[in-house]
Amino acid sequence: MNSCPADARPGVQSEELSFEEFNRTSIRQRSQDMSESAVQTTRQNPLQYVSEQLKDLRAKGVAPKLRILDGEQKPVCIFDGKEVINLASNNYLGLTTHKALRKAAVDAAKTLGAGAGAVRTIAGTMQLHMQLEEQIAKFKNVEACVVFQSGFTANAGTVSAVLGKEDLIVSDELNHASIIDGARLSRATIKVFKHKDVKDCERILQEHSDFPGKKLIITDGVFSMDGDIAPLPQLCDVAEKYDCIMMVDDAHASGVLGRGGRGTIDHFNCHGRVHIQVGTLSKAIGVMGGYVCGSRELIDFLYLRARPFLFSTSHTPATAAACMAAFSLLDSPAGEKLVKKLWANTKVFKRELKKRGFQFKGSETPIVPIHVGDAAKAFEFSKKLFDAGVFAPAVGYPTVAEGKARLRAIVSAGHKKEQLVKAADILAEAAKPLGIIG
Ligand code: PMP
Repeated sequence: MNSCPADARPGVQSEELSFEEFNRTSIRQRSQDMSESAVQTTRQNPLQYVSEQLKDLRAKGVAPKLRILDGEQKPVCIFDGKEVINLASNNYLGLTTHKALRKAAVDAAKTLGAGAGAVRTIAGTMQLHMQLEEQIAKFKNVEACVVFQSGFTANAGTVSAVLGKEDLIVSDELNHASIIDGARLSRATIKVFKHKDVKDCERILQEHSDFPGKKLIITDGVFSMDGDIAPLPQLCDVAEKYDCIMMVDDAHASGVLGRGGRGTIDHFNCHGRVHIQVGTLSKAIGVMGGYVCGSRELIDFLYLRARPFLFSTSHTPATAAACMAAFSLLDSPAGEKLVKKLWANTKVFKRELKKRGFQFKGSETPIVPIHVGDAAKAFEFSKKLFDAGVFAPAVGYPTVAEGKARLRAIVSAGHKKEQLVKAADILAEAAKPLGIIG
């Protein structure tokens, strides 16, 4: 007689039941559930507070709806049925629609299927995954690399695997949410230093000079909301002085800064001084995913302890193959040309904006923040722009602090000069009546 595992049955702990008995129990349970649900309709909705909070956000004008892309993610494309100059995407090099990446993705799907079928540590490690990791490690000039499902999971999974509750994390105040969440998950003591303030970072370490646990300094390489670059060489000096692990999240620097987009470490020639380098495959690389580069032992440890790696299914063959095609491209003269074009476009766009009276203090990269302050006003600015043919999103709390809302425009290598000039004109026209420029 077939039997059913005890732990699958409601209220039964140890004895074995036949499937017939189990089914009878389940039917009784289901009819009981149904009569309970009838009672529930008269109970108060326990998620009522969510509806109230949502109503409040909508009333304040800070609940923008999702814009829906119709077609490809390109420098000029169609959102919500309207053609706009796209200054909203992280597609820095235009690789989301590059023919080499498309071909690699299609070929991999054809030959290897649509999915990986398991987490990496069970049966979901395909040859492609290993090849991608080797390729990235070589590109970044490090011993080894592990690929995660996203940049978010790379940060959160790594910080929480490497640090524990007896340790200290010293973190820039504008670090990305995935670093903050990883730090919280680690249960380490978290101390925050003022943005890019190396002295403040050192002050914290001096105050914790007899801290018994491990210490980590962590910073974004390029800050996603301000477009400024971390003072990496100086932070490395502090890390070395106080015996800290040094970690950099290069999500917005990969494919953007350094030779051929090799990142902040390459930009500052800090090779060998950063123990943990995180990058994303979802922005300049044009696909999806994240990675961690470091020593062979660090990566082997993450294979065993980074929870998103252990507990979430690996990339589809198409994703891994497209990422490989992207790195092959970056590692070629064509890739270097794209990175140069990105920087040339950034120069043009910033020059055109400055001519029209915009200021974007701090930005050193293709991320151009236009500070507005009030969130509702920032959303109104963004809406006006959209109606006039430019898509640049407003960013408010919780992505940035309350009262520091802004418009964030991102330049790509794929923009044409005339599109950037036209976008600057439209930005100026929308900004004037709102008092954002004089
Ligand atoms: N770090 C930073 C600085 C980011 O801006 C982002 C994306 N917003 C991430 C990590 C996460 O990357 P992904 O989109 O690949 O999860």
